[in-house]
Amino acid sequence: MSLGEFEIIERYFARASSDPQVLVGIGDDAAVVETKGPIAVAVDTVVAGVHFPRDTSAAAIGHRVLAVNLSDFAAMGAEPRWCTLALTLPDADAGWLEAFAGGLFALAAEFGVTLIGGDLTRGPLTATLELLGPTAPDGLLTRAGGRVGDDVFVTGTLGDAAAGLALLASRAGAAGAAETRLEKRFLYPRPRVAAGRALAALAHAAIDVSDGLVADLGHICEMSGCAAEIEVTCLPLSEELTTVYSADAARRLALTGGDDYELCFSAPPAAGEAVARACEGAGTPVRRIGQLAEGRGVRLAEHGRPLEPPAGSYRHFDP
Ligand code: ADP
Ligand code: MG
Repeated sequence: MSLGEFEIIERYFARASSDPQVLVGIGDDAAVVETKGPIAVAVDTVVAGVHFPRDTSAAAIGHRVLAVNLSDFAAMGAEPRWCTLALTLPDADAGWLEAFAGGLFALAAEFGVTLIGGDLTRGPLTATLELLGPTAPDGLLTRAGGRVGDDVFVTGTLGDAAAGLALLASRAGAAGAAETRLEKRFLYPRPRVAAGRALAALAHAAIDVSDGLVADLGHICEMSGCAAEIEVTCLPLSEELTTVYSADAARRLALTGGDDYELCFSAPPAAGEAVARACEGAGTPVRRIGQLAEGRGVRLAEHGRPLEPPAGSYRHFDP
């Protein structure tokens, strides 16, 4: 079935908006939104064969392109509200578009996000989504606010998505329940928006774990001008991960594996109880894994004894 450009937009992407702050939505030359105060803006592109295997379902791709941006908003404590979508498709396949829009709009509805415009072109499969919305009312939550002596926390569990991706890539035959759950962690990331917003007033610095804990916590260290000390025995590992992988492999995945979209943040020790309450209120597990210290970079310890960091976290342009 072949569809024209405007037919595609009309049929799959133009939906009635109930948001009174959207003054002009899909259909005009630009969208217009009404805002009071500062807004956060994030954009992320997902490319077939780079960010997900080429045979990934359209629904998972639609979910992913919004989820990765929601995760950036979570790390800023910002409120996701509006998005635009630039979609490049090799062909106009009705079934694919239906599933892609289904994945995208299911997540958009859950998080109160309205699609207000976009662009459509023909070419290798690529989706770029830009997300906009008000910043946290209680002040900015950035990577730069960490202070020596802060406790370092992560939400959820680490390493599951990287394990899921490896399982998808190596899949031979049917997988068990644990494998399937790990694959789902990769295919359908759950951004920690509620936790991020609840933590905005408590945390000093935050980042979402997209490239791996050591790499991403390293960005907090760089931008905050300090070091981090992580006790590896405190890393939160899922039962699925430790069922499918050896203890060593599970630890390596938790330290360097990307795509978990958990939050890593620092907060003063005095805020410990408030952090626990905020995360509980958001339905998000949280674990203290170390502290910020004098110096540079991320240092690892096992039962207090120094440990070499494992190599490898994903970068697009490194040789
Ligand atoms: P222009 O040529 O002026 O850029 P387009 O023909 O690209 O306009 O788009 C027409 C309208 O449809 C615009 O309002 C645009 O924002 C919207 N639009 C285009 N592609 C998408 C898409 N993939 N999702 C949502 N809205 C889209
Ligand atoms: Mg256009």
